[in-house]
Amino acid sequence: TAAMANYQTHEHDVIVIGAGGAGLRAAIEVSSRGLSVGLICKSLLGKAHTVMAEGGMAAALANVDSSDDWKTHFRDTMRGGKMLNNWRMAQLHAQESPDRVRELEHWGAVFDRTENGKILQRAFGGHKWKRLCHVGDRTGLEMIRTLQDRGVHQGIEVYMECTISKLFLDNGKIAGALGYYRENGDYVLFKTKAVVLATGGVGKVFTVTSNSWEYTADGHALAYEAGAELIDMEFVQFHPTGMVWPPGGRGILVTEGVRGEGGILTNSEGKRFMFDYLPESTKNDYAATEDEAKEWVDATINHKKSEARRPPELSTRDNVARAIYVENKEGRGSPHGGVFLDISYQDSERVKKKLPSMYHQFKELADVDITKQKMEVGPTAHYIMGGVRVEADTCQSKVPGLFAAGEVAGGMHGANRLGGNSLSDLVVFGRRAGTGACDYVDALKESPSINEKDIDAAIEELEAPLKREGGLNPYDVHKEMNQIMSTHVGIFREKDEMAEGIKKLEELKEKISRVSVASDKRFNPGWHLCRDLKNMIIAAEAIARSAHSREESRGAHSRLDFPDADDKKWGKLNSACSKDGDKMKLEHTELPEMPADLKELFD
Ligand code: FAD
Repeated sequence: TAAMANYQTHEHDVIVIGAGGAGLRAAIEVSSRGLSVGLICKSLLGKAHTVMAEGGMAAALANVDSSDDWKTHFRDTMRGGKMLNNWRMAQLHAQESPDRVRELEHWGAVFDRTENGKILQRAFGGHKWKRLCHVGDRTGLEMIRTLQDRGVHQGIEVYMECTISKLFLDNGKIAGALGYYRENGDYVLFKTKAVVLATGGVGKVFTVTSNSWEYTADGHALAYEAGAELIDMEFVQFHPTGMVWPPGGRGILVTEGVRGEGGILTNSEGKRFMFDYLPESTKNDYAATEDEAKEWVDATINHKKSEARRPPELSTRDNVARAIYVENKEGRGSPHGGVFLDISYQDSERVKKKLPSMYHQFKELADVDITKQKMEVGPTAHYIMGGVRVEADTCQSKVPGLFAAGEVAGGMHGANRLGGNSLSDLVVFGRRAGTGACDYVDALKESPSINEKDIDAAIEELEAPLKREGGLNPYDVHKEMNQIMSTHVGIFREKDEMAEGIKKLEELKEKISRVSVASDKRFNPGWHLCRDLKNMIIAAEAIARSAHSREESRGAHSRLDFPDADDKKWGKLNSACSKDGDKMKLEHTELPEMPADLKELFD
């Protein structure tokens, strides 16, 4: 029984699960309010996925393009999200991200500078103005370094290499969580009044992904199991430019910053194909000729004002990813199934200064010198727009005391996220989730308690694969899941294909219940994967079911059988998955109505 199991117990007013940008910012907020907070992460502190963010953080500071303002940022975000965003989240994000950037700077972040000493901003797909504050191509590293310093100095208690596997409720309200230390398998119980989920995304559900090992949908599954809703799960962003070669580097991100600095995409015939793929509705926003695109790049390099429109390579990610897919399908791809991305025509010292990580990444992994040679790139599963449904102002989910922020939360980015909008999302909503959790705890009349039987059941579930003999290999089962998702619910989707995928996922659930591993909990990543599979199958099923039901193409969701957007039927509906006994329930719920003053921005 749990009473006999050897586990540590810790007690905090609030626990934050995940120590990326969102989790750190939430924990800083809780701690600054004087409440006790425990910050839990399954990797080492400072190693969260946020550290990998390259291109920058979007905020309408108007340092480079003085015409920028929060309304334009809001409009770009909603348009990028194909109007499926939670308008209130997009509004708060656009309004508050400049303050969050200044706050980071105040806390010690050293951003790149304009010639007159302001924070420099670069262009990114879908953003009307140069809006991404950055530190070369290592923006996430600087963000994490700054937040980590701040948090540690504030005295936040951190539990590292600790995976949370279960949330406990008391009368439907959050009461605690159970986890295990990855190193030795020891269990740890957290008693708490509120939980902020900041666990990131789900990329490991797919075969080719830019995501790190941590992205196994844990937060999505924890929330779902606790009774929260997962919305918009069909919207998975395939970033257009991941490495396609060598095999070991497949999927690793090639930042959009390369295109933001003037990188050109060509096919095997040397054609700059993106001119042919601009949707009619956005054509006027982009350069019509190579000369105009060149004028824009020259002005960017020389920090000059120019009327030239941005190059077609800076179209939204969904659009560029589809274009690369089609070029390949029609036989105009590069040797390893991608297309070419070229920045080598620029001064090599500038390329190394602006894109140092990219330079090293290609040199070390592919033996390609990007200052002299073209890169080969192709789509990679990158980001999930879908996630836990939260209330915009407080980030609270349907479950009292359960909050979510960052990539694990849904709504902010609608059907497609603009590059750079995640890093700002993390700090805007990380802070708000922290405030929301504190307000909730302050208003709570009675401390919740955890039922001993629930702890027993959670430990038993974790231990089952250790006790089972001769079961299936979890790595084989994971591979099968990856194949199902990549084949049946990938970039382009079709009804019968997806229906077959859903059937296969059902069969896979049964296989997951039969996995087994060696019985020692110490240093046993196979055992960790057994748990991860249970999380990933929930995300996989939610993605597949939501995608199957949405009979239109919108943003990152592209249906071969329904190639157009259907605004009348689907334009105002979120998909929402929730737990109904042993089954997943899928509903379609109305988007909240946008107020008239914001609607006017789109006229
Ligand atoms: P993360 O930073 O991923 O943190 C998740 C945390 O949760 C980790 O600490 C992890 O250990 C912990 N965790 C997960 N599960 C558990 C569990 N069960 N128990 C305990 N802890 C758990 N966005 C931009 O805006 N601009 C960019 O330039 C940019 N570049 C990117 C480059 C790359 C290569 C990639 C992959 C993404 C990029 N993104 C970018 C997207 C952005 O980096 C992510 O969306 C963002 O960092 C997610 O942050 P987060 O705080 O939500 O989660």
